[in-house]
Amino acid sequence: MELGTAIDDVRAAKKQAKNTVDASVRADAVLLSSSVDTELQRVIALASEKGASSWLTCRPLKRHGLTLTKGEFRDGIHLRYGWLPQRLPSSCSCGATFSVAHALSCPTGGFPSVRHNEVRDLTAHMLKRVAHNVSVEPHLQPVTGEQFRYRTAIQTEQARLDVAASGIWGGRFERTFIDVRVFNPHATSNRATSIASCYTKHEKEKRRCYEQRVRDIEHSSFVPAIFSTTGGLGKHAESLYKRIASLQAAKTGEAYSCVMSWVRCKLSFALLRSSVMCLRGSRNLRPVQLDSPPTLAVAEAGIRI
Ligand SMILES: [Zn+2]
Repeated sequence: MELGTAIDDVRAAKKQAKNTVDASVRADAVLLSSSVDTELQRVIALASEKGASSWLTCRPLKRHGLTLTKGEFRDGIHLRYGWLPQRLPSSCSCGATFSVAHALSCPTGGFPSVRHNEVRDLTAHMLKRVAHNVSVEPHLQPVTGEQFRYRTAIQTEQARLDVAASGIWGGRFERTFIDVRVFNPHATSNRATSIASCYTKHEKEKRRCYEQRVRDIEHSSFVPAIFSTTGGLGKHAESLYKRIASLQAAKTGEAYSCVMSWVRCKLSFALLRSSVMCLRGSRNLRPVQLDSPPTLAVAEAGIRI
């Protein structure tokens, strides 16, 4: 037997063995999933989404920004399996009972905004490497009598989207506007909906708000980039990041699969870190009025100088 044929035979045998093991593991996973309650089934499904486990399966190398603190790692594991993290307060400073679902959505402290901005800025940085004219929070041109199909269409003069860039699709002057949303799949408004339907629902809401305005007035395309707090991506976000990875692979000569895995990993870390911040971030500071001019306050309040 020739050496080349022998090597091919070994490769084919290895591939067949791997496929057999994969099929067996998948069958076990389906069996296991069907034997647990629906809440745990949902948690497992969320953790199984593509890219959602990247933070857990990569090697923790500081020079690539892939490290977590001990606490972040523990909280990440607890969030992944739907367990209650340790040493959480019993009540939130907004007055509600503290729970993971509440912490991921509570606006007190501004942590959901931090999470959103983290993904927005990461996306803009990725785009800067492959597209032109990348801007963060670009204003939309004002509406001057145009009619919109949906009542929820945003028509305000100060409307802005999260990121805009040229040359993602089409020619280098073709502009794309992106709006990011990170939703909490455990929130009351999403809990009763299947995971796939959650993505579709949020994508539809964003498209109804902005798509026609972007298409008709900006003559550009619109992408609703929807993420779950657990690390999954919606259909449109998936296409966007695949396109970014493909452009970068073409530009640098790297393998597409390698760049795409890197993109998923960075997104996964950004979402996990900001979810942990939602959980652990301090909401204790009470609002303090600091905006009075000192001279006015001293004069009006008769403060002794
Ligand atoms: Zn709260």
